[in-house]
Amino acid sequence: MKALDELTFDNRFARLGDAFSTHVLPEPLDEPSLVVASKAAMALLDLDPAVAQTPVFAELFGGHKLWAEAEPRAMVYSGHQFGGYTPQLGDGRGLLLGEVYNEAGEHWDLHLKGAGMTPYSRMGDGRAVLRSSIREFLASEALHALGIPTSRALCVIGSSTPVWREKQERGAMVLRLAHSHIRFGHFEYFYYTKKPEQQAELAEHVLNLHYTECREQPEPYLAMFREIVERNAEMIAKWQAYGFCHGVMNTDNMSILGITFDFGPFAFLDDFDAHFICNHSDHEGRYSFSNQVPIGQWNLSALAQALTPFISVDALKEALGLYLPLYQAHYLDLMRRRLGLTTAEDDDQQLVERLLKLMQNSGVDYTLFFRRLGDEPAALAVTRLRDDFVDMAGFDAWAEQYKARVARDGDYTQEQRRERMHAVNPLYILRNYLAQNAIAAAESGDYSEVRRLHEVLARPFEEQAGMEQYAQRPPDWGKHLEISCSS
Ligand code: AMP
Ligand code: MG
Repeated sequence: MKALDELTFDNRFARLGDAFSTHVLPEPLDEPSLVVASKAAMALLDLDPAVAQTPVFAELFGGHKLWAEAEPRAMVYSGHQFGGYTPQLGDGRGLLLGEVYNEAGEHWDLHLKGAGMTPYSRMGDGRAVLRSSIREFLASEALHALGIPTSRALCVIGSSTPVWREKQERGAMVLRLAHSHIRFGHFEYFYYTKKPEQQAELAEHVLNLHYTECREQPEPYLAMFREIVERNAEMIAKWQAYGFCHGVMNTDNMSILGITFDFGPFAFLDDFDAHFICNHSDHEGRYSFSNQVPIGQWNLSALAQALTPFISVDALKEALGLYLPLYQAHYLDLMRRRLGLTTAEDDDQQLVERLLKLMQNSGVDYTLFFRRLGDEPAALAVTRLRDDFVDMAGFDAWAEQYKARVARDGDYTQEQRRERMHAVNPLYILRNYLAQNAIAAAESGDYSEVRRLHEVLARPFEEQAGMEQYAQRPPDWGKHLEISCSS
């Protein structure tokens, strides 16, 4: 295990030079202190978890100190925001401090969000508030624990630095980890600014570092794009299967690695609602829960457009055509497992759709339904769950179909069924009201709730003694919280 000064840097993105990013030093926060750290994320850097408690940890991730080998850079990119092209975005408040590699030889970007102004800050102040930093931290680590590809979060550092949003708040920084911070918008930037040489350099960089196996293919760039399509289809299938709503699926928030990235007004569904919109500035519902599926494809098309200098339009179209069938296959596979099924039948898609429609009409809790379905044998479980449905006759008809399907599925004991189902059906998810409680306590200086919630969500499938309150439907006040989009 390493001390903080033992990290080994290899700043591959910084070496691409000034056409890709600008050197900027972090602007320190006043009185930086540790809010929360993720032991699991620290392990990715081989860091001894005890170092999180040392003052130098808060100084490093609060922008006061820097390793001699770090090369802080603000990256330039652009992107389609709510369907329209914005020619220049970039890291307006985050810095890629450098790339660190661990003993297993994996490289991790250290990205400090909230680190002050950069040439890409536009009208912004370069800061992030405590509230949104805690939300990003909790969400990244919770999604990872659910098995959903995502950027990770090492820690949140709080401060006394005033930051003005709708009201005065306090500044914080979150240290984000990912194998790469390259977005779809990076490719769009070099395409639309007509810089073919840099664009080729970027493509080579991504291919060599992140899609090495595609080098062996007859058309490496096409193989890479296909792989990006596949990863996105799988990631979005997992979002849909677990009720995660990203909220701002602009192409500058889409990772070239197919990981969940840039957390804003995201939410996990409490009640199942296909039309749920978690972003209150999304008036048309472009990024509503069910729209995430077609938007995933729309975003990939935007990336495809930017790759036309390297790949023929026909080949790009063909690769894009993989998205929906792959999405469907991953989604159905996961939903079957959530229902406790081990085999595949043609009618399974319809079985899932019927259930979701019933849940939608009755506002049934999406997470707890599946968990409770595995608690008891199928026949008993459905009689217990029945009361949650307004349309009981409709539910009974579904339950008959489900029981018959389970009977055909295989011969296993309830012990086996429960174990298998509980391993894919979480008991604990990051409900908005739970995050809100933790944030309210943190804003008054008590970080214990953020830390406890983080610990609970690190093992979402395991029932944890004394943690019943984290596995409840939201109280009335917590049902339809308006999460501020300012962050
Ligand atoms: P987001 O909506 O967080 O994905 O951000 C979109 C763009 O706005 C990115 O280029 C961000 O870096 C930039 N941005 C967001 N908030 C701020 C801020 N407070 N200061 C400077 N730039 C910001
Ligand atoms: Mg963003």
